[in-house]
Amino acid sequence: MIVVVKKEHEQKQFDNLVKFIKSQGLEVDVSNGAHTTILGLVGDTSKVDIDLLLSLDIVENVKRIQEPFKCVNRKFHPEDTIVEVAGKKIGGTNFNFMAGPCSIESEKQIISIAEEVKRAGASFLRGGAFKPRTSPYSFQGLREDGLKLLLKAKEETGMPIVTELMSVNHLDLFKDVDIIQIGARNMQNFELLKEVGKTKKPVLLKRGLANTIEEWLMSAEYVMSEGCKDIILCERGIRTYETYTRNTLDLSAIPILKDLTHLPVIVDPSHASGVAKLVKPLSLASVGAGAHGLMIEVHNDPKHALCDGAQSITPDAFGDIVKSVNVMLPIVNKDLQL
Ligand code: PEP
Ligand code: MN
Repeated sequence: MIVVVKKEHEQKQFDNLVKFIKSQGLEVDVSNGAHTTILGLVGDTSKVDIDLLLSLDIVENVKRIQEPFKCVNRKFHPEDTIVEVAGKKIGGTNFNFMAGPCSIESEKQIISIAEEVKRAGASFLRGGAFKPRTSPYSFQGLREDGLKLLLKAKEETGMPIVTELMSVNHLDLFKDVDIIQIGARNMQNFELLKEVGKTKKPVLLKRGLANTIEEWLMSAEYVMSEGCKDIILCERGIRTYETYTRNTLDLSAIPILKDLTHLPVIVDPSHASGVAKLVKPLSLASVGAGAHGLMIEVHNDPKHALCDGAQSITPDAFGDIVKSVNVMLPIVNKDLQL
């Protein structure tokens, strides 16, 4: 439920209203827009007396939110959410590149890729330490050691880092990670989502392999209902009957999400396609569709990558994408964050 507050009001009236709502066991999220102030009511609003609220001088309107997702709903928070991480802004008119290898393989590999993608225009370094592999016999990532190397790359290059958390048991290891990635396979691991939400750390929530937009937003709601406001949604392709690509990039999810939610939406064209030469066209299409950023797998030696080599592009190819995206950004009213 949302309560729209009249433009002209006294602070005391406002404070009393918030106090009154809280006295009914509800949380209040205040969203101060350029033209209106909206109070988002979180909790069981079934007993709220709407007529009573409407009768108050300060209240302009009261609306129930029909959708099952509340806190992440655009109606709850009409302005775009800007996630600020290590001085960089994600969302709104800001455009970010997150780039790096699928998996951290060695100190030399992660540091040299970090330096190259930074030079080319990436604002965040990605790299997997704990890898969700289909086969238990495939490389599982360097795990704790990989995380240490990623932190070293962060220290050397100054780039904030994004890496996937697969288990609550590893949370302690993630305290210096800037953005916690929840991968496609864990999008509906609700216990994990709740624990991650409690940390209040920025979360990059990937879309599940076969999940609807509404299910995805409900997962974001799990994280946000624990108090974490900094969530970035990442479209990474969904499973369809097509076999030329690893997944099918759902481009329409971008403008749909931008209507439904205030959260930033980025695209991972690497997992969406599974094919290195498709990464550029899908990147440009995503920018055109309004994405707030791209997460791209970059490897200095894709042929010998321990994971996802077929979809990994070289630092040069990454630099070429950044250049082309930069030409498009003014058309979609965004600025590159460096
Ligand atoms: C990844 O980013 O390396 C990854 C495993 O992605 P996804 O969860 O989208 O498959
Ligand atoms: Mn990968």
